[in-house]
Amino acid sequence: MALATNRRIVLARRPEGAPTPDCFEAVEEVIEQPGEGQVVVAVEHLSIDAFIRTTLEEGGHHAATPVGAPIVALGVGRVVASGDDSLKQGDAVFGPLGAQTHAVLPAEFFKKLDEDAAPARAHLGVLGLTTGLTAWVGMKTVGEVRGGDTVVVSAAAGAVGSVACEIGRLSGANVIGIAGGPDKVRYLTEELGCVAGINYKGEDVGARLKELAPHGVNLFFDNVGGEILDTVLDNIAGEARVVICGAISQYQHLSDVRGPKLYLRLAERNSSMRGFTVDYHADAHEEGQAQLAAWLKAGDLHLREHVVEGIDRFPEALEMLFTGGHIGKLLVAP
Ligand code: NAP
Repeated sequence: MALATNRRIVLARRPEGAPTPDCFEAVEEVIEQPGEGQVVVAVEHLSIDAFIRTTLEEGGHHAATPVGAPIVALGVGRVVASGDDSLKQGDAVFGPLGAQTHAVLPAEFFKKLDEDAAPARAHLGVLGLTTGLTAWVGMKTVGEVRGGDTVVVSAAAGAVGSVACEIGRLSGANVIGIAGGPDKVRYLTEELGCVAGINYKGEDVGARLKELAPHGVNLFFDNVGGEILDTVLDNIAGEARVVICGAISQYQHLSDVRGPKLYLRLAERNSSMRGFTVDYHADAHEEGQAQLAAWLKAGDLHLREHVVEGIDRFPEALEMLFTGGHIGKLLVAP
């Protein structure tokens, strides 16, 4: 018996540079009752993450999505029918839902969520693997943030960046955020508690860093790469830690990535640069999730959400990650 009509976004062709609308196509299919061990989930929110862009091409860090296949995405949703004892109708779940309105997957792909502790979509933001936990691992495990540190975060008004700024502040560091535009700078200082914000689209980042951090930057949490990475490298203190979380300025041309020119500052200032991937640090997740949940409950975290309505606007939301049209966590509500 038909249960629902699923509308999904598939990859129509591989992009060259920034994806254009003709790289995507919406298709519909009828969903039947789930088989044994399978679950049908109505998608409520999808996380728009940079890794999705890298799956549109061959040769990225994550497996390439075949042409014609659905676009990958993590999300939260609600079970509408279950063929497995571990989940029942109405349960809120997190999993690899994909860019679609309904997902049919084995029950073991899902994590059941406790909605009394936090709303389901917090598991994509503050408590999410690709947002809160990424910021936690980067700031705490890899960056070893300390009280009194001068910390710089790039793409600071985005999802990971916002939580990284707040982890820095809550650890007693003085955090300077770099973001594109005066509204974002206001968000950094007025809502996230950064000591200062730099608008890289309108200000000289190097000159501002010299003014704001005259003794140098102790910890740089980099989400952007390219020119911003070089500018901050030029302003690190002795024994600084540079954490490579990502390089969003490079993802639209992965076959021609621009590396740092000023990496010799690491040697000159007895400093280190270390990259990480959040999955690799699974042993830090439990502590991170517990601390982030405690801060969330206490009202100490202020990550904004930007929700794009409609599954057909998934490609537009993905583009927004690169043009910076959002503040905080970017989500799609199908
Ligand atoms: P996000 O920060 O919410 O969105 C990306 C932001 O990057 C945009 O808002 C935009 O803000 C900025 N940006 C885009 N293109 C730029 C450019 N050319 N130059 C400077 N800034 C640019 O996205 P997110 O999901 O939180 O991801 C942030 C970073 O974390 C990404 O690099 C991602 O790959 C990384 N990440 C790493 C891991 C890991 O395990 N290491 C896991 C998850 C995410 P502006 O308006 O400020 O330009």
